[in-house]
Amino acid sequence: MEKYRVRFAPSPTGELHVGNARTALFNWMFARHHGGSFILRIEDTDESRSDLSYQITLLRDLNWLGIDWDEGPQKEGLYGPYKQSERLEIYKSHLQKLIDKDFVYPCYCTEEELEEERQTLILSKRMPRYRGKCRNLTADERKKREKEGRIPSFRFKVQPQVIEFEDLIRGTMKIEGETIGDFIIIRSNGMPAYNFAVVIDDHLMGITHVIRGEDHLSNTALQIMLYRAFGFNPPTFAHHSLILGKDRTKLSKRHGSVSVGEFHKKGILPEALVNYLGLLGSSFTDSREVLSREEMISGFTLKRASKSGAIFDEEKLLWLNAIYIRNCETEDLVERLKPFLEQAGYKTDTMDQEWLKEIIELIKTDLTTLAEVNNHIDIFFDEKYKLTSEAKKVLERDSADKVIKAFSEYLETNTGSPKDIYSAAVKYIKEKTGAKGKELFMPIRAAITGKVHGPELDKVFIILGRERTLKRLSFITS
Ligand code: GLU
Repeated sequence: MEKYRVRFAPSPTGELHVGNARTALFNWMFARHHGGSFILRIEDTDESRSDLSYQITLLRDLNWLGIDWDEGPQKEGLYGPYKQSERLEIYKSHLQKLIDKDFVYPCYCTEEELEEERQTLILSKRMPRYRGKCRNLTADERKKREKEGRIPSFRFKVQPQVIEFEDLIRGTMKIEGETIGDFIIIRSNGMPAYNFAVVIDDHLMGITHVIRGEDHLSNTALQIMLYRAFGFNPPTFAHHSLILGKDRTKLSKRHGSVSVGEFHKKGILPEALVNYLGLLGSSFTDSREVLSREEMISGFTLKRASKSGAIFDEEKLLWLNAIYIRNCETEDLVERLKPFLEQAGYKTDTMDQEWLKEIIELIKTDLTTLAEVNNHIDIFFDEKYKLTSEAKKVLERDSADKVIKAFSEYLETNTGSPKDIYSAAVKYIKEKTGAKGKELFMPIRAAITGKVHGPELDKVFIILGRERTLKRLSFITS
């Protein structure tokens, strides 16, 4: 068996949260660092909450992030199936093993009865837990309940014991068995409970290290009990801290965007998100913040993962994103921008591709996200050309009028390469009107772009060209 086999085991009950993506990333980096295997397992036994559409977006998001799996859906390996809903027979046979060892018993309590017990315990300030009502039923009592039409769940008999394990991030962990009631391993609808299925799957899939969020610490205690009951060797556990919002509570929707899909839609590059999540809550010794995938893999160690929660800072993600956009090859960036351009109403397939590339080359340093592209490139498209109120104000001045007239005059009577015409035109306007500095350039900018801010004017002119510029100037002068 391989020395390093890890897994990401999401439940498809919602969009992939950045917290879960970070868990996936830690496991993936760990596997890649050690040359081990990364397994994707879909935990879809909660039928009421699981949805196929979430499974689809989950695979889409992992693919988008570049987190590839060695075994899992669409990549069957030796330990499949990798979807829990397709492993029900396996859980059934394992239930029988525990029944044979007298480690489990059928429980006939209804939801209402359990809730009542819970409330009573809470009211009397005791720990809410199942107190074993059905544990010692006689065969007759069981029969009677079955006759009433009650379908049992199966509970694991918890023995009083202290559960101790070494956590790779947290060190020695001790959990008192006292606080844990007999827990359900098979629900009355026949589906396995999370703790039961996960132990069987992790064991059968040869998982060596379980890396997951600290919110699973209490589950780990139950899982270790099950490992012992089956006589399986437990894997090594590592529980990382969770991602928090600025108010130090668990990052959730009320903090803003939290799903990978939302960041994708906002125009965050997957490289930037991976870089950000990979470093969140851990740091590299030389405190570098922009790291390639390869650098993150080679430097990855769980030892650096911090025990305290990591605060999600969207500003920082945006800062990293701008760096990744800037460093992206323009041709590649154009392809990545196309869906956003289409969404903003541009027909990218009929555009002159070289011309589009020139535009992107010019504006890429101004982009923080891909979705912002429209605000930067609209100035180059006639159908989007429109004077802002600030631009109108600039153009209302007398001096502006003279500048624009001189500019038109020059362009009408001269041709040549856009670069040469532009500098010659500026020289001509200066001589003719005496305008210089802001007085000269602001009206030109306002007239040809419709805005008062934007990229370098000579470059804008080169991309627009003489004809298009003349057309725009004619709007102003007419
Ligand atoms: N399906 C569980 C979850 O999504 C997996 C937890 C684990 O890694 O064991 O929380």
